[in-house]
Amino acid sequence: MRVGVLALQGTFIEHIDMLQQLGVEAPPVRLPNELNTLDGLIIPGGESTTMLRLMENFGLIQRIREMARDDVPIWGICAGMVLLCRSVSNYEMETLDLMRAEVRRNAFGSQIDSFEADLEIPVVGREPFHAIFIRAPIIEQVEPGIETLSCLPDGTIVAIRQNRLLACAFHPEFTDDLRFHSYFLNMVSQRLSHNHGDEVLRGGQLTP
Ligand code: GLN
Repeated sequence: MRVGVLALQGTFIEHIDMLQQLGVEAPPVRLPNELNTLDGLIIPGGESTTMLRLMENFGLIQRIREMARDDVPIWGICAGMVLLCRSVSNYEMETLDLMRAEVRRNAFGSQIDSFEADLEIPVVGREPFHAIFIRAPIIEQVEPGIETLSCLPDGTIVAIRQNRLLACAFHPEFTDDLRFHSYFLNMVSQRLSHNHGDEVLRGGQLTP
């Protein structure tokens, strides 16, 4: 299994390290052709406007949209989440426009740009997940087709999934907790076994 980590800017090294701990090949990705052989992609935290500009300069945007169309799992973290979502309510900026949700950037204001919270994330297990928020966005609006995976105690949505796309506002790569990464890898292996099933089926139909 090969899960690439976009390595233009931001916290990509920590994700590569966690994926390797989970036994997955995790190449850093900077060029469009490096996306070709991937089974999944992580878009890490960083600065979303800078990352977007670099993605444009490196010619990555179209290829990433094609990957999403091919159902390749993509996980956006913090700035990566901003880039995956359809629109940003408080900034004039483009995104990849892949998830049917609207985000608010830097939603926690300057006085508490960073904080930590123990979150309930039922899909990763019963133990609370220690979440680190750094100048984090929030999800302000979701449309049908979006599954909410976790909220802050006041109901603010901080993790969502739409089919094979995943997004969260906090940074699992700054903890030792591998559960969120394992959850994403499950999405990757589900697609691989699904595609393999299709091939077996197609093979079956070809058999006289
Ligand atoms: N504030 C950043 C942005 O909106 C995101 C911060 C992060 O990724 N930790 O681009």
